[in-house]
Amino acid sequence: MAGIYIHIPFCKQACSYCDFHFSTKLNNKQKVLNGIEKELELRVAYIGEEIVETIYLGGGTPSLLSETEIQSLLTKTNSLFDVSSDAEITLEANPDDLTLDKLKELKNTSINRLSIGVQSFFEKDLRFMNRAHNSSEALDCIKNAQKVEFLNISVDLIFGSQTTTKEMWQKNLDTFFDLGINHLSAYSLTIEEKTALAHQVAKGKVENVNDEQNYEQYLMLQKAIKQNGFEQYELSNYCKNGAYSKHNTSYWQSKKYLGVGPSAHSFNDTSRQWNVRNNLLYSKAIGNGTAYFEKEELSEIDRYHEHLITSLRTMWGINLNSLNVSFSDLILSQFYLKVETLNKTIVNLSAEYLTVKPEYLFQSDEIVRELMIDFEA
Ligand code: SF4
Repeated sequence: MAGIYIHIPFCKQACSYCDFHFSTKLNNKQKVLNGIEKELELRVAYIGEEIVETIYLGGGTPSLLSETEIQSLLTKTNSLFDVSSDAEITLEANPDDLTLDKLKELKNTSINRLSIGVQSFFEKDLRFMNRAHNSSEALDCIKNAQKVEFLNISVDLIFGSQTTTKEMWQKNLDTFFDLGINHLSAYSLTIEEKTALAHQVAKGKVENVNDEQNYEQYLMLQKAIKQNGFEQYELSNYCKNGAYSKHNTSYWQSKKYLGVGPSAHSFNDTSRQWNVRNNLLYSKAIGNGTAYFEKEELSEIDRYHEHLITSLRTMWGINLNSLNVSFSDLILSQFYLKVETLNKTIVNLSAEYLTVKPEYLFQSDEIVRELMIDFEA
């Protein structure tokens, strides 16, 4: 079982907090799309005979693409790979793109899941983040998606922003739950290097994020998801009725994925590789047959660290039985020694699993650091 990630590196405008790879210049869009289709051809062997269970069009803003462009990428993918008939096919979309007409067009494709970048239902937050949509588009697009019967919808929300008061965050959560959607991705605002927001903070134009406010809003989120029958299955992901994101869950479970497009990453348990973060260099290199990615072979210790980072973010945690057969005695002895020293009020440890308690998932990075090993095995 494998997944395919297709990175669409274009956006209408730059959100102030964003450090993903994208360009707001759309003039070379066709070249990049040609490059992606060519890369799909070049990388067939990466997936081999495995069945593709998930396809994820992420970005950037894939909803900027026309129905024809999306169709072309999906047709190409289907022609090259063994895509399961019930594959989860997700499109990341921004509210300003999701008009009723656009949603009807998307229904003509095999897209069966929408991940909508709402971030907030408040104009004040959206302006602060420099989002391209407004608060009424944030709400209308979801209602329209439901109207055309997209049954599998996820909404992204951001908490802890300098403009988001406690009352506003509660209202965002209430609005979300009133919509009857089964999946929520909720992220705390972080200041990433080289973003417009980092620049504003450095210049003193905007205050830094407040960790206490962040944590308070995270706890509000925890309370709201319980009241609404959602489960937290990953640090930032919540769902109801088993509506897990299959694509992201495979990633957290260290399953193989092929990433195509500028800046996309791929992982196959023995190596990871990442494509060049530049649209023109990517298209040229693909066209010329020259290198467009860097690759790192993973040592056993790298694989162990990767496993900690991805699994401890999830409610499934580390499966000790599979850990025991995947790593050498040297790694396992270090792991179990370190597990003994963990604060047991933060983690649950059984004969089969090590998990971080949901209320402490926010600090899972610290637990990962405690379990890391600092020698070359
Ligand atoms: S739309 Fe998404 S990818 Fe584009 S700038 Fe905003 S957050 Fe980044």
